[in-house]
This record gives sequence, structure tokens and C-alpha cells, in this order.
Amino acid sequence: MSDANPYGLLFEPVKIGPVTAKNRFYQVPHCTGLGHVRPRADAGVRGMKAEGGWAVVSNQETEIHPTSDLGPFAEGRLWDARDVPALRLMTEAVHKHDALAAIQLVHNGNHAQNHISRAPVLAPSEMSIDLAQPKQARAMDKADIRNLRQWHRDAAKRAKDAGFDIIYVYAGHNMTIAQHFMLPHMNQRSDEYGGSLENRVRLTRELLEDTLDVAGGDCAVALRFAIDEMQGPDGMQAAEEGRAVVELLADLPDLWDVNVADWSNDSATTRFQSQDGYQNDYLAYVKQVTNKPVVGVGRLTSPDMMLSMVKKGIVDLIGAARPSIADPFIPTKIKEGRIDEIRECIGCNICVASDNIGIPIRCTQNPTMGEEWRRGWHPEKIAPQVSDTDTLVIGGGPAGLECAMQLARRGYGVTLAEARSEFGGRVLRESQLPGLNAWARVMDYRLNDLRQRANVQMFTDSKLDPEQVAELGIKHVFVATGATWRADGIGRSTQRHPPQIAPNAHILTPDDIMTGAQSPEGPVLIFDDDQIYLAGVIAEKLAKEGREVIFATPDSLVSGFTANTLEQHRIQAQLIELGIDIRCNQSLTNLTPNGAQLSCTFTGRNTEVHCASAVLVTERHRETALYKALQNLDLTTLELIGDAASPGLIVDAIFAGHQAARDFERDPKEVEQQYFHREIISLEMDEVL
Ligand code: ADP
Ligand code: SF4
Repeated sequence: MSDANPYGLLFEPVKIGPVTAKNRFYQVPHCTGLGHVRPRADAGVRGMKAEGGWAVVSNQETEIHPTSDLGPFAEGRLWDARDVPALRLMTEAVHKHDALAAIQLVHNGNHAQNHISRAPVLAPSEMSIDLAQPKQARAMDKADIRNLRQWHRDAAKRAKDAGFDIIYVYAGHNMTIAQHFMLPHMNQRSDEYGGSLENRVRLTRELLEDTLDVAGGDCAVALRFAIDEMQGPDGMQAAEEGRAVVELLADLPDLWDVNVADWSNDSATTRFQSQDGYQNDYLAYVKQVTNKPVVGVGRLTSPDMMLSMVKKGIVDLIGAARPSIADPFIPTKIKEGRIDEIRECIGCNICVASDNIGIPIRCTQNPTMGEEWRRGWHPEKIAPQVSDTDTLVIGGGPAGLECAMQLARRGYGVTLAEARSEFGGRVLRESQLPGLNAWARVMDYRLNDLRQRANVQMFTDSKLDPEQVAELGIKHVFVATGATWRADGIGRSTQRHPPQIAPNAHILTPDDIMTGAQSPEGPVLIFDDDQIYLAGVIAEKLAKEGREVIFATPDSLVSGFTANTLEQHRIQAQLIELGIDIRCNQSLTNLTPNGAQLSCTFTGRNTEVHCASAVLVTERHRETALYKALQNLDLTTLELIGDAASPGLIVDAIFAGHQAARDFERDPKEVEQQYFHREIISLEMDEVL
């Protein structure tokens, strides 16, 4: 690194107990949906972060015992010695790049459902389990507490054996038993573990002491602590009990990893928390109370923000989960002065959704995330061109932009044609909706890259037809023409009985709203049969413009999918606050110029609503006309990608564009045979573990 690097401070080493982080970049624990189920893929994710320059790379919450069984979700698992080899894959991958490996041990108390282990669920007091499942947790007696401490000690020993350098005690996110003991609404005990704050913190103190004892000065012990529940006076507040906890435990852990609870507050989306560094106000005093290093998060992607946080004494280490997912190479890029190459997280929480759905991690901005081991993809490297040939990408939405950028990186000549006057496709349109401004980073990052490449020609206002494609004479064509929202009301709930729509009814699609092609009149009905996020955002936009909005959906929740991105409760609250008339469990049967008929999805009973126009958010038609026409040309490559091939989320379009560019001119046999690596359980094992 040159002395002139203005971010030199970020590359100073930081001592964490007996170990030393080589710089201030710290990947805090985050889930991957890989965990103990797909350990090779998980090691691939973590190793890539280490390669990208993070001084510390953590795994995810790691169950210490069958009474903390989060199955079917794929978290870390360290129930006994048989789990050690899988975790060693990660520590080896991280150590290869001179980084420290951290493990987040956890007992999840009543957040664990114990579906796989069928063990009883434990909690400080008698209570239901956290998720709506037919189970109750039992209040732990003294023997349970002694056992818990022993399980944690044993897990710490195994973590050491697996090669971890930092071992966590985890008291955060309202998902962990150590924190549950601290919270009065969860802890009604009358023994020395309940009542006063000192008593409620006792278990965390004991776990820290036990873990330090096991660590024995060979590895560091971190405490991850939720300093504020963001419930106001109804919960723990940073300035009150939160601070008192830090004071009580001040110099006991080797490192404080502080954040806010619950997970939806910690991993806030940009839609509801647009400011990067949004946790700074909560963390600010921690360093004044402890002499130990402090790491904090807050969707930190800007090196200037990072620098100011260290300079102001808010943190010693820059914590990141999502920014490190979107760009595992942030530290290297800052070190090498390649700031404009940082692929900034857009705060969409699709990564979080993967874990909540129970599938391997995926990221809107970084299509290689989770594919490091499975497909051998590297976020910064791609195979060079196979031949000296030119390519044509038609459509400048996310799929086309990613495909063009990766083809160009491989060295191919790239012509990118977009019909509209601006690039971006759906990303451009959706990023203009309320709260989604940061999503524009998807196109900004790719356009910035493409515009700097001599082998790329880019054209807007270029709606290509087959004759023009033939005239260009380019034999390798990728068609990323996207999809448009249909206006006939057909969707999930209406396939069997399409709604009757009067010819003079005023119908709009999301495309009309986003492009401004049409405006709704009078009271407007939004019919959401898509049930993802778009209808909810459009409702917000129209209500904020002062329109009377009725929101009908066959789902029992508004924007039901967004429970996975941790936003659903906020979206529904917002629509209620905006005065929107929400009609759940309703499908659409009839539309006239004056109103609509809805029908209850349970009883079929009809209700009339008055509206002058309707926005139908149901399904999309793929734009395939050009693709079909091009089949008559003598092209060597003709590939349909993105929403035009399979309408989905932006993350899917980016992935498809990336994959098409990677696989271009690759041996088709190899593509077919190695679709991706799978972690298959071998039945040839002669011994059942
Ligand atoms: P995806 O998500 O698959 O990238 P989008 O709908 O976001 O799809 O983007 C598709 C883009 O393709 C749009 O911006 C659209 O204007 C453009 N497009 C559609 N047809 C043509 C065409 N014939 N020539 C050039 N661009 C086109
Ligand atoms: Fe950020 Fe979205 Fe990627 Fe998650 S999926 S890291 S929130 S860009």
C-alpha cells in the first residue's frame, strides 16, 4: 500500500486478546444457508472473504447442543466431535490467506425448535417458543444451567480443535439464551439468575469466564451483544441497561461485537433505513466504557464512513456482513485505491431471505456469492475469451448489463443495445419507487465498469429488430429483453377463474405506474397476486401522492414474501399508517369502470369495492418476440436470459446474465456434467457416524 493511501488507518493491525487482526476489516458472523449441511460451500464463501482481505472472517451461529437445534435451517453445528472436520474446512480456507477465523457459538433457547433432535426446548422461564410452532419451552433449573455451561465449554474446546482463533459468546438478535436471561420480559426467575441486572447478566458472565478458561490464552473470546432492542422503554435501551451491561462486563471479553436487536433492526433494509452507519449512535459510548477493541456494523460500504468511525473512536474494527457478501474484496479494493470498483450492497436482504427460506445464500449484487465451491466462481476473476470474437447483448436491464460486463471482462468485443433512452431496465424503474433508491447501485456499478472498457460499445434508443441484428453481422447474440406486467388480471389465484374485466374499466400495470405512462384516477384498487414487494411499494407511492388506495391480496399478509427479507411487519404497518384500506384473503373476480368485486379465498363470498381504476400486479409476459424472430437467422449463439427466459427477482436476472457470460464458448459437455457440485452424503461409508 502506498503511503499516500488516505485510508491507511484502516490497515493498521488490531490486537484482540492473544491474537492480532492484520487490519481493521472484520467480517462479523452471518448465515449462509450452507452451514453444517453444505460445509464445503460454506468454506468456499469464507475463504473468498479472507482472500479479499478481511482480517477476521467469522462463520455463523453454531449450535452447541441438540437442545439448540435450528433445523431444518442450515446453521453451524458443533454438537460433538463429529462436527469438527467440517468446520476445519473453513478455518483452513481462512488461514490460507493469513486471516483469523471466528466461530459464533450459540444456544438459542426458546428460538430453537428442536425439530430434528426432538429435545425439550429451554428458556429462562416457562414460555411458548419464539416461532409459531406447537411447543413450549421449560424454565431451566440449576442442573440445566450447569449443563448449558458444560455444553458451551465443550463446544469451545471443539472450536479450538477445529482451528478457530476467536470464539464467540453470543447474546444478541433476541435469538440467544444468554440475551434471553438479560431481558426482564423473558426472565421472571427469583434465583440468582433473575431479578437485578447483575443477576440477569450472570449467565453471560459465566459463559465468558468458561470460554476464556478453555481458550487458555491461545484464542480470543468475543462477546456479541445487542445493546438496544429498539423497543423504546419496552426493551433494553443502549443508554440505560444496555450501557449498564457493558459496564458490568467491561474488560472481561477480548472483543466487543455490538449491534442492535432484533435481526430486522440489525440488518435493516435500505427501504426502511437509508443511512449507512445507522447503528453509530447506539455504539458510540462502548469504547469509552471498555479498554477492549470494539467492532460495529451498519451496512458500511463507504471507506470515508469507515475512516471517520475509527477516527471518532466509535469502533476499532469495521464490521460487515452484507457489504462483505456484496463485495468480498472491499479491503483489497480500498488498499489498492480502487474505490469506484466496490460493489456496494443495496440493502435488499435477498441474502437474508436465502437463510430464511433455507437455501444457499445468494446476493443481488454479487452473483458469485455461494457459488465459490459449487461452481468454482470467483467474484473478481473470470476465464479469458476462448476466441477473438464479437458478441451482441440486446437489452440493458440487470441481465443484459451483467452479461455484457462479464463478456467484456473476458475480453470479447461487446455491443450492448437498449431500446429505451436509459440503461437499467427494471432496476432503473423500480429504484425510482419510494425507498428503493439504493437499488440503482445495481446498474451504476455495472455501467461504470462498462463505460471504461475499450472493447464495449453501448447504445441507448436502439430497439433492435431482426434486420438490424442481421446487419450488425455479429454471430453471438444474448437476448435480455425482459418481461412486461400483464393487464388481464391472471395470476396465482385467478388461473382457474380469470377476472371479468369490462372493456371500459381503467386498468393499469406496474409498468404504467413506474414509467408514468398512465396515472390512476379516483380511488384506486391495487390487486396484488404477485405477493412479493412491488404492489406494496406502488401502494405506498400512490397513497403518498394523496390517492385513496384499496389494497387487495389473496395472501393473509401484505407483501408476504418480504417476511423473508425482514420487512413485512414494517410494510404492513406503513400501509396501515398511510390509511390504505387493506383487504387480505381476497381475489379479484370482476372489474368495471366504477368498482370491483372481490371474493374471499376461503368462503368464496363476494364483496363490492368502489374504485375508478385498478393496478393489477399479477404476472409478467416474457418479451420473446425478437428472440423467436432471431431463430431464423444464421447465428452461432442465440441465448435468452434473465426475465425474458424466466421472470424472477433482480438477483435471478443478474445471476442469469453472469452464468451466460461464464458459460459462453465453454465446452458444452463440461457445462452439462458440472452443472454444479453437490455435497452428497456417501452411502459407501462403512461406519455410521
Ligand atoms: P432483465 O431483468 O432480464 O434484465 P429488464 O426488463 O429489466 O429485464 O430489461 C430488459 C431491457 O431490454 C429493457 O430495458 C428493455 O427496454 C430492453 N429491450 C426490450 N426489447 C428490446 C429490443 N428489441 N432491443 C433493445 N432492447 C430491448
Ligand atoms: Fe446486500 Fe442485497 Fe447482496 Fe444482501 S443480497 S448483500 S442486502 S445486495
